[in-house]
Amino acid sequence: MRKYVCLLIFILFGNATLAVAKEPSQADIYQQRMNLYRQVEAMTFVPWYYLAAIDQYERNIRLVRNDLPKPEGLTGIYFSPEQWSGFLNKNKDKHHPFFISLFNGMGRDGNSDGKAKRTDDLDILYTFAHYLLHYGIDEEHIRIALWDYYQKDKTVGIILNIAKLYRHFGTLDLGKKVFPLPINHHYSYKSTWGVARGWGGRRIHEGTDIFANYGVPVQSTAYGVIEMKGWNKYGGWRIGIRDVHNTYHYFAHLNGFAKDLQIGQIVEPGTVLGYVGSTGYGPKGTSRKFPPHLHFGMYKYNGRTEWSFDPYPHLRIAERNDRSSK
Ligand SMILES: [Zn+2]
Repeated sequence: MRKYVCLLIFILFGNATLAVAKEPSQADIYQQRMNLYRQVEAMTFVPWYYLAAIDQYERNIRLVRNDLPKPEGLTGIYFSPEQWSGFLNKNKDKHHPFFISLFNGMGRDGNSDGKAKRTDDLDILYTFAHYLLHYGIDEEHIRIALWDYYQKDKTVGIILNIAKLYRHFGTLDLGKKVFPLPINHHYSYKSTWGVARGWGGRRIHEGTDIFANYGVPVQSTAYGVIEMKGWNKYGGWRIGIRDVHNTYHYFAHLNGFAKDLQIGQIVEPGTVLGYVGSTGYGPKGTSRKFPPHLHFGMYKYNGRTEWSFDPYPHLRIAERNDRSSK
């Protein structure tokens, strides 16, 4: 009998412990977030992809900014205590919706528990949706609402592009990355980020050079939106895309672009953007001043500034993934 009791205890509590210890997978987290966005959409009619994009943008900046707390819940949106409860709200019960609105705080009670909590995912998202509702729920009004809130064109553009990606693909799972060249072509590269550059004054090398023959296709490394395309005296023909992590992927010295690409267009990992060349280091059309190669750069935006980081480790991971998925 005792044996069975022990077994029963193990079945009950052993499994419970295992269940608690199991971390939710990335897919679970996406699913939970999607449920949350859909729930707020049902309550406010603000389309889920705008809520998802704002949430994702804020999560991105919190992960790289030291002046903002790291995201802990499902949501990424951050409200400061003053913003949430009202600047002059000295009430003990800062969660009370009545006092919050009395002191012009933004906080709202989304889950109808009588409290507007700055740490509750539903309250947070509902609060932002409620803010948007003052303007309207079509893209033009949301654009104005976002501009009033963030006061930066770049931020508004990035959020609307993330929304565009979520809407188009109907999923939050857009983290896939690939190597910028199809790996069955000949190419070579090494870590050269940060080394001094000769041409055009004192600069550091903000990227990785991938040497390959003229005409090798250059493909998008991520799900993203084309943010820039054209000529620059350093980069020659170059193109840049922005992914859902606020990361800008920059491809330079191209021989030419793939047909019909335009700024604002959605691309996915593997979409051909152009071809390896040696353009740049002079006026429009200059080429062959150096051996053909793709200059690949990565930049991160934190809501204030943008900086270059070393793409080399990311290239190695993408290359390995491409090889194992062949
Ligand atoms: Zn380069």
